[in-house]
Amino acid sequence: MSDKLYPVSGDWAARAYVDDAKYKAMYEASVASPEAFWAEHGKRIDWMKPFTKVKNTSYAPDNVSIKWFEDGTTNVSYNCVDRHLAKRGDQVAIIWEGDDPKDDARITYRQLHAQVMKWANVLKSQGVKKGDRVTIYLPMIPEAAYAMLACTRIGAIHSIVFGGFSPDSLAGRIEDAGTSVVITADEGLRGGRKVPLKVNVDAAVEKAPGVVKSVIVVKRTGSPVAMAAGRDHYYTDLAAKVPDECPPEEMNAEDPLFILYTSGSTGKPKGVLHTTGGYLVYASMTHQYVFDYKDGDIYWCTADVGWVTGHSYIVYGPLANGATTLMFEGIPTYPSISRFWDVVDKHQVNTFYTAPTAIRSLMGAGEDPVKKTSRSSLRLLGSVGEPINPEAWEWYHRVVGDGRCPIVDTWWQTETGGILITPLPGATALKPGSATRPFFGVKPEVVDAEGKVLSGACEGNLVIADSWPGQMRTVFGDHERFVQTYFSTYAGKYFTGDGCRRDADGYYWITGRVDDVINVSGHRMGTAEVESALVAHPKVSEAAVVGYPHDIKGQGIYAYVTLMSGEEPTEELRKELVAWVRKEIGPIASPDLIQFSPGLPKTRSGKIMRRILRKIAEDEFGSLGDTSTLADPAVVDDLISNRQNRK
Ligand code: ATP
Ligand code: MG
Repeated sequence: MSDKLYPVSGDWAARAYVDDAKYKAMYEASVASPEAFWAEHGKRIDWMKPFTKVKNTSYAPDNVSIKWFEDGTTNVSYNCVDRHLAKRGDQVAIIWEGDDPKDDARITYRQLHAQVMKWANVLKSQGVKKGDRVTIYLPMIPEAAYAMLACTRIGAIHSIVFGGFSPDSLAGRIEDAGTSVVITADEGLRGGRKVPLKVNVDAAVEKAPGVVKSVIVVKRTGSPVAMAAGRDHYYTDLAAKVPDECPPEEMNAEDPLFILYTSGSTGKPKGVLHTTGGYLVYASMTHQYVFDYKDGDIYWCTADVGWVTGHSYIVYGPLANGATTLMFEGIPTYPSISRFWDVVDKHQVNTFYTAPTAIRSLMGAGEDPVKKTSRSSLRLLGSVGEPINPEAWEWYHRVVGDGRCPIVDTWWQTETGGILITPLPGATALKPGSATRPFFGVKPEVVDAEGKVLSGACEGNLVIADSWPGQMRTVFGDHERFVQTYFSTYAGKYFTGDGCRRDADGYYWITGRVDDVINVSGHRMGTAEVESALVAHPKVSEAAVVGYPHDIKGQGIYAYVTLMSGEEPTEELRKELVAWVRKEIGPIASPDLIQFSPGLPKTRSGKIMRRILRKIAEDEFGSLGDTSTLADPAVVDDLISNRQNRK
């Protein structure tokens, strides 16, 4: 992949909580004696009744059970809001940047406190009690954070559904979680376009009859919407009738906090269940160390609260740390392709955390839209969601960060609650494309197909050998699926589903999903590697690679390639790309078939759904599987009609 090394700068080594020596010492201590390590760090949140037990976890296939701090009691909203009031009541907790650059707001911790209590009482007025599920289907407005924190205040379990999902997807999640209350808005606003949220909720509620008793509607655009008598209520009407004060409910560390459905890249989404104490300890600790968060920093994670990244690194981690977190309603390309950088300048953002898919699409438009902004406030950049190919990494580093800002490439999953493998900016020399080293308390292992643990530099499947506090506890309502999915492939270990390589320095390189590994004439190859090579070509903006049955090689390499704007798909270029990959990786990696495609099928969180591409490459597109999380189903039709492998 890339053999460049970016050492820690002097500034960073001096500023950061942790330098390399301290990382090594803390890491060693964390894995040598997890009990002692987490007993100490568990105290970073406030407990109502302190825990006396720290870790009680078993990965044994016949008894998978994960408990952390199990006899402690606490409350998440108390930790994210109330405990900051004495010192930071007037500090801004949330900077809200609207879809329209003229819309913004700054919400202090004191204001947040008042809002969360009001919202909690509104939920109570709709009959919501401890343990009940609440579905949140909101745009990126501060009310999303208020509603989340209000649930935690009264012990309700939220299930957030991304506002881009269709009524069908929403109905499935409402039914699966059994939610009697849905919180939504009249409409959302993204890229200047209105999203009919309330209309979608109405359709979803009809598809899941008898489940939903109450729909709470926030006015975002103010457009009139149908309101079913007795069922639908405007938030403001309910809020006018309830008290201002609401004390936080005392919750056990292992009481459920939220359900969140995975992105659906590899199959039917799973209802991941996280619990209270361990999750908050882990989300806040990773937020502090990975982003080296210090008082006064302006921190921006561009995710949506509909994804786990939004849960842990827009809301819970930052707010538990008393941070100022920026919440963005819009999209990177509206009103112009400079929007991210305009927002950075406007709010003087220091830490910027986004996804490779966003970087790659902005790269396609060249450097000018970035270079015309200042970005001088930026200190640290982050990446999450997919392997970031070295080409995109270098661009992010050189163009966005002006060569000055380290990039933390954070590997984790909905299931892990927080970041597991990542650089720490003051401690880790960076290699573009590598998520580098494990966070404290995390024990990654690389195993072969039979489960044999590999040592030294190696390549295989990524498993985690022991539990960490932020780990999911079960699949909601389906513990068997939890055990089957994560603990049955390699007995006694948590299986991530990802492939990875470990180099001689002990750095981890995620090579993509294990299902996506291709075997060409006996050579195993991660799709990420071939994709990186293709994207490194100046005319290519995105690439997705899958295997397909090949008479001679066993599997052939099928590449879907999206070109930079203005480039023509020619036979010439096809040959050029094949030659290019040969040169970059070797003849074994030469694509057998290249399909030029203006778009790739992506989940709504921007990840490429290779399982669909695989079906098309196999000329088996009759059964594409669960496509409910696809962002733009029309892309698939175009791919099918231009497929290269017709039987
Ligand atoms: P599903 O589990 O439903 O198929 P999903 O895996 O896309 O969906 P998420 O939990 O949102 O759902 O994504 C986690 C996955 O994203 C990881 O397993 C990994 O494949 C990928 N990923 C996340 N961050 C990184 C990273 N920094 N480098 C490489 N891959 C990453
Ligand atoms: Mg997954």
